[in-house]
Amino acid sequence: MRLVLLGPPGVGKGTQGRRLAAALGRPLISTGEILREAVAHGTPLGLEARRQMDAGRLVADDVMIGLVRERTSEADAREGFVLDGFPRTVSQAEALDGLLAERGQRVDMVLYLWVGEQDLVRRLSGRLECPVCKRAYNAAGAMPRDGVHCDDHPGTELRTRADDVEDVVRQRFEEYRTKTAPLVDYYTATGQLRSVLGRGSVDEVYEALRRAAGRDPQATPTT
Ligand code: AMP
Repeated sequence: MRLVLLGPPGVGKGTQGRRLAAALGRPLISTGEILREAVAHGTPLGLEARRQMDAGRLVADDVMIGLVRERTSEADAREGFVLDGFPRTVSQAEALDGLLAERGQRVDMVLYLWVGEQDLVRRLSGRLECPVCKRAYNAAGAMPRDGVHCDDHPGTELRTRADDVEDVVRQRFEEYRTKTAPLVDYYTATGQLRSVLGRGSVDEVYEALRRAAGRDPQATPTT
């Protein structure tokens, strides 16, 4: 099962993707997460990506395509994966189709998670993240039990992501509107897209995603 999660910044792709991937028994491949790790470790990829990420701009297609080609060929991803944050441009989508076709594979389904932009800006400006497990919390919704530390890592204080500040958020939406939103048409044309409204609790949205995915019996997550 090769699943793509598509949607605007802050819609909950990471949170839901983690859960879907666990239910499917496949790895979650988050390109944003891979880039943030690379930045944190000061690798050549991190040095190249950092300036773009800090400005809320997309990293170059060829860099991202190379990264995904490599990651999806690793042993744990051979039988499938959940992609979060890739593809983000039509070129990336075409490259993904091409590299999977070389392996006799294809994207089985694209789940498009969406809510209105105003809600998203509010969510992003209150978003906090655990630096250890990357779990996301939100001042407007689910906060940790003690308000400060990750529920799963009680010694770890939550932090704001560097690109969740206002002007960077605005730029990320601009990139989304101009470069990523056309993928809705791209995957509608191929018949792979299923739309899900991302409003409600984390559990409610997860159920909606499961229902959408479950329209294909092969794809039903088990938990
Ligand atoms: P995310 O965690 O998915 O919100 O991604 C954070 C940042 O990483 C984005 O704002 C981009 O700068 C970069 N990024 C992640 N995935 C991609 C991608 N597929 N193409 C280009 N840039 C990306």
